[in-house]
Amino acid sequence: MSEEVIKKASKDTCDTFCYDEVLVQRVQPEIEKVEGVELIFKALSDATRMKIAYALTLEKELCVCDVANIIGSTTATASHHLRLLRNMKLAKYRKEGKLVFYSLADNHVHQLVSIALLHSKEV
Ligand SMILES: [Zn+2]
Repeated sequence: MSEEVIKKASKDTCDTFCYDEVLVQRVQPEIEKVEGVELIFKALSDATRMKIAYALTLEKELCVCDVANIIGSTTATASHHLRLLRNMKLAKYRKEGKLVFYSLADNHVHQLVSIALLHSKEV
């Protein structure tokens, strides 16, 4: 490592290794709760799916053809992404006659998508 690299690294790292035992004991068991939560972000870690999810925050529900037109894709592609969102419990669907309507699973997902968008605009 060059001296410059070391300097940069030390700027955002503690100069000495010391930790708060009580704090670690308190927080460590809690982090087990997040197991599997990363899958939510994995499902949204695709630009097209994020667009679809955002579109679904703007409208109560959209049929597969609406989604395909909004994202400029085939219905097969739209349906593939919607199925994935559904499998990850981020979206749900209902069939009405010949149409399949998708909506976000609940208000948590709505907030998650809206807040991510707000955050990305402020930084
Ligand atoms: Zn929920």
